[in-house]
Amino acid sequence: MSRIIVVTSGKGGVGKTTTTANLGMALAQRKRKVILVDADFGLRNLDLLLGLENRVVYTAVEAIAGECRLDQAIVRDKRQNSLALLPAAQNRMKDAVTPAQMRQLVMALAKKFDYVLVDCPAGIEQGFQNAIAAAREALIVTTPEIAAVRDADRVVGLLEANGVRKVGLIINRIRPEMVEANDMMSVEDVQELLAVPLMGVIPDDERVIVSTNRGEPLVLSEEPSRAGQAYSNIARRLEGETVEFLDLSLPPKGIFSRLRTLLNTRII
Ligand code: ADP
Ligand code: MG
Repeated sequence: MSRIIVVTSGKGGVGKTTTTANLGMALAQRKRKVILVDADFGLRNLDLLLGLENRVVYTAVEAIAGECRLDQAIVRDKRQNSLALLPAAQNRMKDAVTPAQMRQLVMALAKKFDYVLVDCPAGIEQGFQNAIAAAREALIVTTPEIAAVRDADRVVGLLEANGVRKVGLIINRIRPEMVEANDMMSVEDVQELLAVPLMGVIPDDERVIVSTNRGEPLVLSEEPSRAGQAYSNIARRLEGETVEFLDLSLPPKGIFSRLRTLLNTRII
């Protein structure tokens, strides 16, 4: 059965779209058929993060209005052919779509894909209602700031009230040195406040921004990064694997520690 997961948050700008793009790509790398639905009508940008903006012809709004077929609006990824995108309209009114229409659209996609990941807009108004309309699961993204966590808590309540019971937490932009200096909430602090099962912790890393600007999700990078690894690990956990959380307080593994591992495992 297909998994319909909404990626949401309380506060805006915390990393929903980045998470949707990287997680979708990581699941596609595992040969899952994945479609990413941009539910941020009016401010679409999932296509940019994926570098697919030039391929957008129709959007979800035209598909809903019957101005094109659903498959005409779907854009295939250039690199992973099991990844697809349903773009949002950029210049239509935000309330051009109703929750009932979104539900119907997402249910149609669920017949063809293993995963439907819905990228939610900021706020808790109509756009939020649309994004969660068909969702059976949710991933809540928050940064370790009190305002973001408080808003996330509100969304947890709203999800429950709307029948979305399976909720996982992603804490984004952790800076271990700040946590150590007591200048930032720790993973444990956030988890305690929200009481939602942890699905992943992503470090603050400028490569996330660089990859965004290039339209190349970080999980595609040949050069290993902890942020990329963290996204791949979330994909594995979603698939039911038990994967240890990265210890972000340790320095990243450099060439010497990798050599040491090789020596330990292969030679000695
Ligand atoms: P949202 O969809 O929640 O509004 P975005 O995914 O668009 O948030 O991210 C907002 C900004 O934060 C973008 O510029 C993005 O590159 C940056 N960002 C997201 N996650 C990280 C991270 N782990 N490290 C550094 N920058 C990040
Ligand atoms: Mg976004």
